[in-house]
Amino acid sequence: MDQDNLHVAIISSPGMGHLIPVLLLRQRLVTHHRLIVTVLAVTTQTSPVESQLLTSVTNSTDINLIKIPLPDISNLLVPNDAIVTRLAVMMREARSGIRSAISTMNPRPHVLIADLFSSDVLPIADDFQLQKYVYVPCNARFVALTMYLHVLDNEVKGQYVDQTKPLRIPGCVPVRCQDVPDPMLDRDNRQYHEYVRMGINFSTLSDGVLVNTWKDLDPTSLDALKHNEILRSVVKVPIYDIGPLAREVDEANLEGNEVIKWLDKQPFESVLFVSFGSGGTLSGEQITELAHGLELSQQRFVWVIRPPTDVTKDGTFFTSGSGPDKPPDFLPEGFLDRTQKLGVIVPLWAPQVTILNHKSIGGFLTHCGFNSVHESIRGGVPMIAWPLYAEQRLNATLVSEELEVAIRPTVLPAEEVVGRKEISKMVRSLMEGEEGKVLKEKVKLLRESGNEALSMNGSSYKSMCEFISCCKKKMKSD
Ligand code: UDP
Repeated sequence: MDQDNLHVAIISSPGMGHLIPVLLLRQRLVTHHRLIVTVLAVTTQTSPVESQLLTSVTNSTDINLIKIPLPDISNLLVPNDAIVTRLAVMMREARSGIRSAISTMNPRPHVLIADLFSSDVLPIADDFQLQKYVYVPCNARFVALTMYLHVLDNEVKGQYVDQTKPLRIPGCVPVRCQDVPDPMLDRDNRQYHEYVRMGINFSTLSDGVLVNTWKDLDPTSLDALKHNEILRSVVKVPIYDIGPLAREVDEANLEGNEVIKWLDKQPFESVLFVSFGSGGTLSGEQITELAHGLELSQQRFVWVIRPPTDVTKDGTFFTSGSGPDKPPDFLPEGFLDRTQKLGVIVPLWAPQVTILNHKSIGGFLTHCGFNSVHESIRGGVPMIAWPLYAEQRLNATLVSEELEVAIRPTVLPAEEVVGRKEISKMVRSLMEGEEGKVLKEKVKLLRESGNEALSMNGSSYKSMCEFISCCKKKMKSD
């Protein structure tokens, strides 16, 4: 191998929302920076769409991918353990598989990058004298909050959501208590302690943190993470803003797709896309209100729909794409007939990126997963922000209040049911109101600024080059 040829191994934890950004980072490092990259994908093998993606990647001759199956961890969890707890346990139990994969890799990597949930794996890098980084495909405020959480843990008494004042992170826009990410909602829950630990890991176990954001997306938090003295004394390691990394349209296998054929016949920017990511699920009552709201609005729509669950936020996180692939029988009576010309229902999973980039799409009702936010911006599509779980409330606040590319319900979805009248009003306002037009212009400007950040000499391009040059320097000195 060429002396300059840096080899990077990236670990992805289970879940489409984790695998996709890791593959995007791989692609960026290979195509724009000519590095050798191997992806170590830990998989639960319980999501058909994740398995499909992994198979297509494995079959591709130019992608190095090693699948790490999980050992049985059922005796380490209790049935209602939250997602963060599950992921943290899974990734710790995957360590021996990851260690043995690295030991057989030839050529051996120089750098190990752990994704958000795999920072407990980083000590393995020391066994092989590898450099070690963390990749967080989230916004900078989330990174600041996560890395500062152990300080707040000492300072704040009681539950975060009961605080009367927003949480202060040096140099950042304060975090309103209703925006705190899921793992912070209950300090007595095991996932909270896993989350505190993750933040400590970032600054104590890694040589730096890569963040899938860019200068204009959340400038204040990014600047604080890099330059605020008090925050730096906690963060310690370099922060690299390397985004926006978002999926491009992939036309493969979409020939004859019924949704795309239907979209082809609709007027320019006239259709609302409704989807709640890989894991988002709604209650029966909320599905009914959403159906009536869409119908009342009389706007065209494509709705990715999953059966209602009692787990009303993240019910399909580990099983995305699975379930009954038949016309839903849980929608209001007559809804499908009455909306036959207005909209299309897609069970379980849709080709989101292609849909968002279709000329007929004019709005996106989204759960605000960060990949979805990036994809909406990349498609130049304004949003209705409908956060459900994880750090989605932070993302929703960012896109609606600061970047002004989204509108938002008055209540917090997942905690209260959003009523049909409000839904109809938001949809009309986004799709045919003056507000929608303003948001559309802003989102297109934001897309341009993302493109600039990634272009040669753009802020994210330079940041990625700094990271690589730092790795190469260390590689040569070893
Ligand atoms: N996705 C998709 N089709 C669907 C639902 C989701 O292609 O029907 C993709 C979506 O484009 C995004 C990812 O799955 O790339 C979901 O990631 P995100 O961060 O938006 O949300 P998460 O699922 O992690 O909550």
